[in-house]
Amino acid sequence: METIFARSSGSGRTAIAVWRISGPAAGEVVAKLAGSLPSARRASHRQIRDPLGGLLDDGIVLWFPGPNTATGEDLAEFHLHGSQAVATRFTETLTGLGLRPAEPGEFTLRALRYGRMGLLEAEGLGDLLDAETEQQRQQALGGYTGSAREVVAGWRDGLLAALAVLDAAVDFPDEEDVPAEIASRAVPALEKVSVSLKQELAKSAKGRRLREGLTLAIIGPPNAGKSTLLNRLVGEERAIVSDIPGTTRDVVSARLDIAGRLVEVLDTAGLRDETDDPIERAGMERSRAARERADIIIELSADGSREDPRLLRVTNKIDLGETAPEGTLGLSALTGEGWDEFLIALTGRIEATACPALFTHERQIALLQSGAAALDRVLDDPAQDPELLAEDVRSVIALLDQMTGRITVEDVLGAIFSRFCIGK
Ligand code: GDP
Repeated sequence: METIFARSSGSGRTAIAVWRISGPAAGEVVAKLAGSLPSARRASHRQIRDPLGGLLDDGIVLWFPGPNTATGEDLAEFHLHGSQAVATRFTETLTGLGLRPAEPGEFTLRALRYGRMGLLEAEGLGDLLDAETEQQRQQALGGYTGSAREVVAGWRDGLLAALAVLDAAVDFPDEEDVPAEIASRAVPALEKVSVSLKQELAKSAKGRRLREGLTLAIIGPPNAGKSTLLNRLVGEERAIVSDIPGTTRDVVSARLDIAGRLVEVLDTAGLRDETDDPIERAGMERSRAARERADIIIELSADGSREDPRLLRVTNKIDLGETAPEGTLGLSALTGEGWDEFLIALTGRIEATACPALFTHERQIALLQSGAAALDRVLDDPAQDPELLAEDVRSVIALLDQMTGRITVEDVLGAIFSRFCIGK
């Protein structure tokens, strides 16, 4: 096993840079650079010297002998000054000692391989590192700290209990209806798992929107006030990254934090039925695409006629004396009249569209769907051959084991860890 290293505390000029080293050579490298191996799990202030004795930096060294460490291997941390020159010199020194720069997520991958962490926790950790809003942070921590794993463990226990009953039925000598009668005793436990699993699955889409961020499109005819509304939203809410290019014919967007949710707001070019202007036509095409993928649509100058559950209908420019028709919210994006009511309505929509869930990744959802289908097959006909029932229940247990990483499928690991940062 190679010994890897990475700067874990981000790049650029910083006061302190935290470097991590993991693998069998970690202890030897620490002893060489810090003069001797410091006491385990204690911060030691040392002069850091390269193997020829040249002073490299002055900093803190931490030594964590395996296997009871974050990666499961021998692990060390160097807290050095965060300058480019120190980074360059330290990297050269470690490489010269035969260490290799870590790939993204490689420390976590090692933790997984040594059983220090499960797959659901690793996915939660990835989400936590990506979290931009409060709700994303909370949802991610649920995965990272094991809430999702505990729920899966509960299902697994229920299925094992049912399986014991089914196996007893299989072993029973084939007399009349006795095996089927015994097998039927597994039904309540299976039903309980099935219901709970489907409940979690039902929450997944909203949890996924919370994790990935939801899309809000503002649509309406030219001059309805779309840009004015977007600007007011950006001005009032916390803009995470605001990206507003100059042209009004394109889709412009802003990333906002509304009620702890990451919301990408798209202001779309005016939608008209016909135009000869090719640039305007291209803009309209993008507006349509934005509307297609939007989770919530604010429609300005709405007449309330169109049916779409995603629509929040708004009559803008009420300061000019317009009255809002039934089913629409009156607003003046210019003066702010009606803004509080509008924001309450919008926040309500956002909260209802993106809420926390335990299983939000494609991989997890696909496994849960297969599990739910297999349980349906069992529960649709519990009087069938107990051997077949047991087979299906075993397949669901295997799916859950893939979910937690108890059974490791190599190709999912690459997908999960490639999105991690270096040094984690
Ligand atoms: P868009 O084409 O839909 O993006 O519309 P704009 O936001 O560019 O607004 C078009 C014009 O309407 C501008 O002159 C705005 O100042 C004006 N406008 C936007 N909202 C309001 C409003 O609530 N009241 C009034 N009186 N004018 C508004």
